[in-house]
Amino acid sequence: MRVTGTAQREAWLARTSPPVEQVRPDLWSVPVPIPDSPLRYTLTYLIAAGSGLLVVDPGWNTEAGWQALAEGLKAAGALPADVTGIVVTHMHLDHHGLSARLREASGAWIAMHPAELRTLAALRPRNAGPRRADLAWLARCGVPDDAAPGLAVTDDALAAVRAMAMPDMLLEHGDLVPLPGRRVRAVWTPGHTPGHLCLHEESDGLLLTGDHVLPRISPNIGLQPDAAEPPLAAYLRSLELIAAYDRAEALPAHEYRFHGLADRVRMLLAHHERRCDEVIAILARGGPATAWQVTRQLSWSRGWSSVTGFMRRAALAEAGAHLRHLLDRGTVVTASAGDPPERYALPG
Ligand SMILES: [Zn+2]
Repeated sequence: MRVTGTAQREAWLARTSPPVEQVRPDLWSVPVPIPDSPLRYTLTYLIAAGSGLLVVDPGWNTEAGWQALAEGLKAAGALPADVTGIVVTHMHLDHHGLSARLREASGAWIAMHPAELRTLAALRPRNAGPRRADLAWLARCGVPDDAAPGLAVTDDALAAVRAMAMPDMLLEHGDLVPLPGRRVRAVWTPGHTPGHLCLHEESDGLLLTGDHVLPRISPNIGLQPDAAEPPLAAYLRSLELIAAYDRAEALPAHEYRFHGLADRVRMLLAHHERRCDEVIAILARGGPATAWQVTRQLSWSRGWSSVTGFMRRAALAEAGAHLRHLLDRGTVVTASAGDPPERYALPG
């Protein structure tokens, strides 16, 4: 791997925000701040072609975020009103949050993969349904009653999700983004979310990787209770797909730009293999366990006690994704009959 976004990397190490950068003659990267997050910013990309101006992942919806986006557009010689299209790699708040405001200011269309639309639609009902389903899932995972409310999706988070825009257009794998004069193709990479998209900018040989592949951290691959397909199997397949773009410079949505996608893919595949081995070792050592019990015993970079609040939910979802993967492989079996919580064990 070779870091190409050196200014971005320096900013990352210095814990500051990188500058707006003109990556290619008609392509800019713009850091849009994420409030209270160790990731600090989303890298939003602006791609111009003739009278068209595309924004990929507008970022988190705050006033500071909007100002940062406007600054980036200004560097590209544009105003928010000039934007003609918005593509989001996935529907998370740090990517899709500002899409609604940007569409309002510009009349631009918004595009995403159909699976992201399904997730947005499932979270839209204003009744108690989404939260009840979530608590039931936490119970199946073996989260104790006193810990469950701290892990469950909050009304505030649901309200923020509901405030996000519904798309005007859907992009399937292989579709060209409507940006005349430029070939930007959707590459479906489910895993981090069911409808995650990378974008291949064919003219300049760039791959916008969203959260699918980042240079330093491993994106959260969590079991989504409503996902059509087990996320880890999908993610591993999507990694192998993206290794074929090794010649492209990778433009991720966080951290910094780099070359060497195939290398990075190998590291991420090895990371998940190690994680699976760790789960097997926990079950071998302690016998049948719930997803919650496995989660607490996995190694976390700063220890389980430093995994707090909502991060515990991401950790649980990640352990759940690995357990499901091992279950599908036949390496792990379920050891409980019917009633929650579900327990997992090694066969025989
Ligand atoms: Zn993200």
